[in-house]
Amino acid sequence: MVQDIVIYPDKRLKLISKDVTNFDTELHTLLEDMYDTMLSKKGVGLAAIQIGIAKRVLIINLPDEENEDALPVKSETLEIINPVFLKQEGLCKQQEGCLSLPGFYEDIERFSHVLLEYQDRHGNKKTINNNAFLAIAIQHEMDHLEGKVFIEKLSILKRKKFEKEWKKKFK
Ligand SMILES: [Zn+2]
Repeated sequence: MVQDIVIYPDKRLKLISKDVTNFDTELHTLLEDMYDTMLSKKGVGLAAIQIGIAKRVLIINLPDEENEDALPVKSETLEIINPVFLKQEGLCKQQEGCLSLPGFYEDIERFSHVLLEYQDRHGNKKTINNNAFLAIAIQHEMDHLEGKVFIEKLSILKRKKFEKEWKKKFK
């Protein structure tokens, strides 16, 4: 079911999400809700806290590079639970956006290569080793689990400018 997205500066976005311990139907319903919500907003990733659930759960659905208008395929959606970085190296800068900050995009510096350990919806341990767009998407979503949003990585000047514009937009 499509849920409401938590919009910045809602305080829930500052919560540190908790580990998932039960890989049960409640988790699976959460994953379905997250998928429906992400799809309805045409997002490429979503963390559970963005629909108000402070659990270490995120999903990522990378756009089809050959056909940007193609609808995401549910079976290809990555479901990442309790993720932990084993390795982060290199640097890169890419434009990011966030469903909790609709309409705002900015270049953000991230690690270019990540090695990640996580669990799937059944609790099985898995790893991802990536040095492309997925690596960036994972870092963006994992920040949400720590109560952070990407604008916190902006310079002081850019952040001030953003806050001013954001207040105008949402008042
Ligand atoms: Zn985000």
